[in-house]
Amino acid sequence: MILLYRYLRHCQWFLDFKKGSTLFFSTPLAIVSEAWQSHWLHEIASSLHSSQRQRGRDCFGTVVPRNDKRLWYFSIFSRLGIMSSVIVDFHTHIFPPWLRERRDEYIKRDPCFSLLYSQPEARMATAEELLATMDEAGIGVSVVLNAGWVSHELCVKTNDYILDSVSRYPTRLVGFCAIQPRAGDAAVAELERCAKAGAKGIGELRSDVQGFDLADKTTMKPLVDAALQHDLIFLTHSSEPVGHEYPGKGSITPDILYSFITTFPNLKLVCAHWGGGLPFYALMPEVAKALTNVFFDTAATVFLYKPEIFQQMSRIIGSDKILFGTDYPLMHQNRVIAQIQSSQLPEEDKARILGANAQELLYLDERSKSVT
Ligand SMILES: [Zn+2]
Repeated sequence: MILLYRYLRHCQWFLDFKKGSTLFFSTPLAIVSEAWQSHWLHEIASSLHSSQRQRGRDCFGTVVPRNDKRLWYFSIFSRLGIMSSVIVDFHTHIFPPWLRERRDEYIKRDPCFSLLYSQPEARMATAEELLATMDEAGIGVSVVLNAGWVSHELCVKTNDYILDSVSRYPTRLVGFCAIQPRAGDAAVAELERCAKAGAKGIGELRSDVQGFDLADKTTMKPLVDAALQHDLIFLTHSSEPVGHEYPGKGSITPDILYSFITTFPNLKLVCAHWGGGLPFYALMPEVAKALTNVFFDTAATVFLYKPEIFQQMSRIIGSDKILFGTDYPLMHQNRVIAQIQSSQLPEEDKARILGANAQELLYLDERSKSVT
């Protein structure tokens, strides 16, 4: 009865959040804090986890010491199906209005920007335009990514807009900044500047166009070390080694991603666009093991795969590895949400993909405490 009461109160707050309230998670956390005191709740979580394992299913979260509120929150409430309401889009791109106005000039100045935005139909969006479509699609939070600028100076200049947008909409946007690893110490300094200003990650990296080797320790180790120190996530573009060509496809194929992952196994990494198919190789045990800290987003999926991709990938790598992402403004977010909702996945898996996995990875519950 007490749990039911807590559940209903929790739902109420989710409804508030969906209407745009800034009370994101604050009250559920308070409820949970109260609940931590009860030993029997610990027992419930333990048995839920072991029963899932006995059924051969992946467990979401981990049974952890009672004083780790963050993991407790996810492990218990996701089990009870309460975590499903907030949708997080892990892959969107925004640009400053001044850049859009001078688009032609920057196409000439930067090869990566030219690759992605030379075609007039390639849309660019500002933070406010993104927020408007998030509201239409019922998305609570979006990760806003920068691009793989070849010029270090343009990384810095556009990062300012990402950081500024996040500071203006702290409950709706999470920032990932750009770096040019070839800039050496300057790239490390930029990563640290962004981390201190509130960025949660680096991306979208484009090693193929930016001209560096992801697995080259000389270039990448200082950056990965700094990312680990600041608990930043890296997000890299990924390319299918087969199939149709499209603007921006590139050549960051599963073999290249795998070298990066095995060189830096502790780095939290998101491989965009389903990792160019890398998860299929997780049927090889050593690959599955190597993917411990790796996640895959679904950006641009409607242009790449049949809808069955969601069930197939969930079966191979587990739904806890998959992050809903759209590549907005490449498409309206509704298209990917509809694909996930109409899939044959269990509701629990849909909830993980649409938001719960991202909430855990980005510590969104902790962020809400500092905002509210
Ligand atoms: Zn991409």
